[in-house]
Amino acid sequence: MYGDDDSRRGFIRQGCCSAVGLASALSLFSAQAAESRKTSLSPGEALDKLRQGHDSFLNGKPSLKSSRDKNRRLEIARGQVPFAVLVGCSDSRVPPEVLFDTGLGELFIVRNAGNTVDTVALGSIQYAVQVLGVPLVLVLGHELCGAVEAALSVVEKNTVYPGSIGQMVEPIIPAVLKARASGSLKGEDLLDAAVRENVRRTVERLRTSEPAMLEPIRNGKLRVVGARYDLDDGLVDFFMT
Ligand SMILES: [Zn+2]
Repeated sequence: MYGDDDSRRGFIRQGCCSAVGLASALSLFSAQAAESRKTSLSPGEALDKLRQGHDSFLNGKPSLKSSRDKNRRLEIARGQVPFAVLVGCSDSRVPPEVLFDTGLGELFIVRNAGNTVDTVALGSIQYAVQVLGVPLVLVLGHELCGAVEAALSVVEKNTVYPGSIGQMVEPIIPAVLKARASGSLKGEDLLDAAVRENVRRTVERLRTSEPAMLEPIRNGKLRVVGARYDLDDGLVDFFMT
């Protein structure tokens, strides 16, 4: 008789991508999903909720209350019911829960420097959409993003970054090239155009190139939107909705 670890190793040996492995994985996910409730919010209602939360942040009147207390913690201990996926930058000045006045169990967050979507990020987004039933994905870029600035520096000055930093900013380079294409932008304007282009490319990709996202989008169960956060005035500009 196999122990848990042996079973797991057996599963891995069979290959998670074989038909049997895939079916097992999906049934595991399904069981997990069945145990949890899903949000009843439509994509539009989820976006409204984000906007309202952001208004509270802007007005300096964050609710902080019920979404962070003990009762809320206990309510979601057995299963999460997030209403939005947020793909954002690791920058310490751009904390999603603060910007949208959300609390425990509300946002499913994918966060890295430059808000890019690699395989791990994509799998996380798909998990939230397919298993947790999240109706909204927001890709959030921000003013003066250091990762986008680094990508710009690679393009303009052939800067070489140590360790894994160069690889990390590579996916941002196409956005930088597009922003430079007009030839008319310089300095912070160019950087900001690259920030927006970086968001735009990710939103377009999630909307059109990822098979797992196409069906829920077609059925009106999922929306993918893009925004840019201004560090000075605190405004989130939802420029792709
Ligand atoms: Zn950033």
